[in-house]
Parts: sequence; structure tokens; C-alpha cells
Amino acid sequence: MGSLVAELMAELMGMTCRCGRPKRSKNTFCSACYAALPKAMQRALYQRCGHGYEEAYAAAVVELSNRRFRSPAGGDAREVA
Ligand SMILES: [Zn+2]
Repeated sequence: MGSLVAELMAELMGMTCRCGRPKRSKNTFCSACYAALPKAMQRALYQRCGHGYEEAYAAAVVELSNRRFRSPAGGDAREVA
């Protein structure tokens, strides 16, 4: 699926996290999203595209969206702008 890889690469090189906050180019997520991931998932994102990155990215996105819906703090479920 070449187009999916192209999309992932465009997002990786971009300056906006999927949550809407600014991020650094070549970082998959902003620091807040990245910090919310378990250590194993953070490490998995350093794999290269075609060598596990796509899978790591997909798992991280699922993890982050799960976290948004059950916020441990209760009142801190901020909506994505
Ligand atoms: Zn983010």
C-alpha cells in the first residue's frame, strides 16, 4: 500500500501532530502524545518505514484514541480542536 506509506511519511515530516498541536518535523507525535504512549510503543516508533513503523504507528494511534476517551483524570478529556 504505497499511498499509506506516503501519508505516514507526510505526517512524519509535517509540523502538526494528529491531535492538532505543533510537533517537530521527523517526530511522529507531539511531546504530549508521545509521552502518553507506553515505553514499548515509543521505542517501536523508531523502526523504519517498511520495517515495523507502520504497525507501530497504527498501534500508537489506537492507544492514543483509547486514552482520549477514558481519561484517568476524569475532567481532563479535552476535545481535539
Ligand atoms: Zn499530539
